[in-house]
Amino acid sequence: MRKNHFIANAWAQPSAGQYLDSFDPSNGEVLAQLAQGHAADIDLAVQAAQAALGESFDGPWGRLSALERSRLLMKLAAAVTEHAQELAELEAIDCGKSFKTAQADANALARYFEYYAGAADKLHGETLPFNAGYTVLTVREPHGVTAHIVPWNYPMQIFGRTVGAALAAGNACVVKPAEDASLSLLRLAELAAEVGFPAGALNVVTGYGREAGQALTEHPGVAHISFTGSTQTGRMVALAAAERHCPVTLELGGKSPQIVFEDADLAAAVPVLVNAIAQNAGQTCSAGSRVLVQRTIYEQVLAALVPRFEALQSGPPALNLDMGPLVNRKQYEQVRGFVGQAEAQGLTVAARGRIHAEASSKGFYQEAVLFRDVPADSALAQQEVFGPVLAVMPFDTEEEAVRLANGTDFGLVAGIWSRDGARQLRVARKMRCGQVFINNYGAGGGVELPFGGVKASGHGREKGFEALYGFTVLKTIAIHHG
Ligand code: NAD
Repeated sequence: MRKNHFIANAWAQPSAGQYLDSFDPSNGEVLAQLAQGHAADIDLAVQAAQAALGESFDGPWGRLSALERSRLLMKLAAAVTEHAQELAELEAIDCGKSFKTAQADANALARYFEYYAGAADKLHGETLPFNAGYTVLTVREPHGVTAHIVPWNYPMQIFGRTVGAALAAGNACVVKPAEDASLSLLRLAELAAEVGFPAGALNVVTGYGREAGQALTEHPGVAHISFTGSTQTGRMVALAAAERHCPVTLELGGKSPQIVFEDADLAAAVPVLVNAIAQNAGQTCSAGSRVLVQRTIYEQVLAALVPRFEALQSGPPALNLDMGPLVNRKQYEQVRGFVGQAEAQGLTVAARGRIHAEASSKGFYQEAVLFRDVPADSALAQQEVFGPVLAVMPFDTEEEAVRLANGTDFGLVAGIWSRDGARQLRVARKMRCGQVFINNYGAGGGVELPFGGVKASGHGREKGFEALYGFTVLKTIAIHHG
């Protein structure tokens, strides 16, 4: 399968004539050849987006009313629902997800478009009380051309939450998917054209991060950058953006804790603790990769976790097991490196999951691993593994739990399990992160719920109305009428 860029509602061959291989993680074989974008391809896409907007927002996309944008987004949501099976299959094979996970991602994508379709014509400014003789108002305007750099772990969902919001706010988008997982996003751009988005409103340029991605961050025609990916790359993107004073939203990594107090409902908590790391084989920015358990119930919680971990199975996406393969060889070697290093340091493996007999030995399969008594200063407790590896550690007091939970460079999400209402809120308010879940974890995704990090987990918010605000520029107009 050979795929070109999608620019101005048409397939575009790569300017340099080069294609890169994208691999099937379930067997290591070449799945698709993707156009290898460079600065020239990015330039074409940015020009197409600029033309769609028009110099004074008078182009075929720029002049549409909020209601017209809303209706187009609603049509795109319907097209996604209609093609959900096809999109899920592409995503499952490309990323190595089980079909049921990819299907859930397709449903979430449609929901993002519905949500932002509904929000497009409710995004308004204010009138402000001011001096006598004045009327002052604010208006929210699009940035212009927005860049969207997407990772491989949830391409459709991340596309939905960034591109959906940006289009609703009236921006024209240039998307650079991950080189490992571009197929679903190319199809989405095609669907957008089919439902009537004007040429240039949504463009997808594939390629490597250091070529197409970097060129996009450096392009002077880009007015806002939304980056989702690793903390390390996020720093490079922020530096490129700073060079030309371009606003940037960074959604980066995490090492998110779940705190289990002795009064927790364990029957409710334990399955969620497992799912929070098994979901997408641990390749989730908000994975619950650390579990802090009050010492009085520590052995009880471990005894409940062990059989559930041992039952976790990894296998080909079509088998719909708990986990598919990891996305690529680099990720596979990184996760194996973390596990091997922790074992070499004498950390205790309490349980391991299984790999299904039908899994190819050439696929990137990693079984789930449960480590107990993990020291708070170890790599396993401090660094993002981005695989199905859970670090469990005990604590004695609430103060210690808060210190441990906040004691990494990251700050994305936290979970609190307790029946004590005062403690729930007290601890929630002390968490240094962007989302806190009490007696649940993730709230089932929640497209309405603002999401993002602090510290090395990034800054800016996606999802909900906050994302819409981020994709607009607030202008104040003061009228002196005497
Ligand atoms: P990555 O940083 O390697 O790549 C992400 C994207 O950036 C890819 O499209 C890549 O091609 C591009 N890129 C790479 N170098 C670039 C450069 N110099 N300039 C511009 N673009 C460049 O990340 P990854 O390995 O694909 O994804 C995994 C990481 O993403 C994890 O750390 C995970 O926590 C994070 N993530 C965060 C969130 C969130 O919302 N906070 C969501 C998903 C993933």
